[in-house]
Amino acid sequence: MHPTAAPTDRYRVRKNRTSACSQTRTSRSTRTLLLLALAAGTARCATAPLPTPHAPFPEASADVTLQVEVAVDGEQRILTLPLEQYVAGSVPAEMPLNEPDTAVADRLARLQAILARTYALANRGRHAHEGFDLCSTTHCQVYIPQERQPVAVARLVAAAVEQTHGQIITDGHGPIQALFHADCGGHTSSATDVWGGPAPEYLVGVRDSFCVTVPNTDWHLTLNRDHLRRILNTSQDTAIGQRLDQIAVVSRDRSGRAISISVVGDERRVIQGERLRAVIGEQLGPRAFRSTRFRVEQQADRILFSGQGFGHGVGLCQTGAIVQARHGEPVRAILAHYYPGTWLEPRPGATTRLSTANSRLRRVVARR
Ligand SMILES: [Zn+2]
Ligand SMILES: [Zn+2]
Repeated sequence: MHPTAAPTDRYRVRKNRTSACSQTRTSRSTRTLLLLALAAGTARCATAPLPTPHAPFPEASADVTLQVEVAVDGEQRILTLPLEQYVAGSVPAEMPLNEPDTAVADRLARLQAILARTYALANRGRHAHEGFDLCSTTHCQVYIPQERQPVAVARLVAAAVEQTHGQIITDGHGPIQALFHADCGGHTSSATDVWGGPAPEYLVGVRDSFCVTVPNTDWHLTLNRDHLRRILNTSQDTAIGQRLDQIAVVSRDRSGRAISISVVGDERRVIQGERLRAVIGEQLGPRAFRSTRFRVEQQADRILFSGQGFGHGVGLCQTGAIVQARHGEPVRAILAHYYPGTWLEPRPGATTRLSTANSRLRRVVARR
């Protein structure tokens, strides 16, 4: 977990809504720390279908504010936050910034600022039925108020937010759905393959030769056959009864992710890959069954899963983005790799003035 993360806060709120990608992690190896931070920051790595925009794109001249539900002293409150202030609180919660090279950390902060801003604008009103725009858990984007960020991190983030002020990723139709995940394992997937239904052209699968340069991307899970049966029986749509005779991958997408899985017991099921990951994740935590890029082997009383990557695999791969940032790749090139056919442009109405967030942050930092 990177130093600015606040796992207790992020997991204490709205547990009913937190996905399998939002559990506490404790391992301390470098690779694991990276993955843990990434997994915690993978707001869109859950089994939820591709979200659709809920609010019209802001008027050109509008100052955008967001109603964000935040846990304050253990209570849920709805804060009204200017967009740029919200972005500054989201960046360090969603991206590990503890890079030894400050130029790399700065690149990653700018990249995440653009992602956070784009995501927030595309998903304003996601919780409209509850009276606010966005929650501050992994369901939407985690938010850490600037006052609670370490000063060095807050400074880094403030500069990144200021440098990218108003910038969004677009395909010419407003902010894109900037989905991302921890580690694609070598190839991202199209949203259509993972969740079904139509999806924008920029959410296609792309090859990723960067994340695979980070060692130990493989994961393994061995389950007793009866244990897996009981896990499947925890959900009505995956329940198979009193036996588990067979489990096999029926189809894969071009990236190698399992799209449909046949399970035979008292009942016969064909389960969507992401659904299987979610059901197992709900019982064993997000690190147990990390991706649908897996193979399955059956032994007498055991089922062996082995795979690569972490998360749903759609959109930007954070591990690959970090490797590219370390190689000096510009932010816009990294984004264009994972969201092909998109570009950066100023949000209509955004100005080059210093954001409220940064003016406010300067006061906060100056006091400390
Ligand atoms: Zn939410
Ligand atoms: Zn990747």
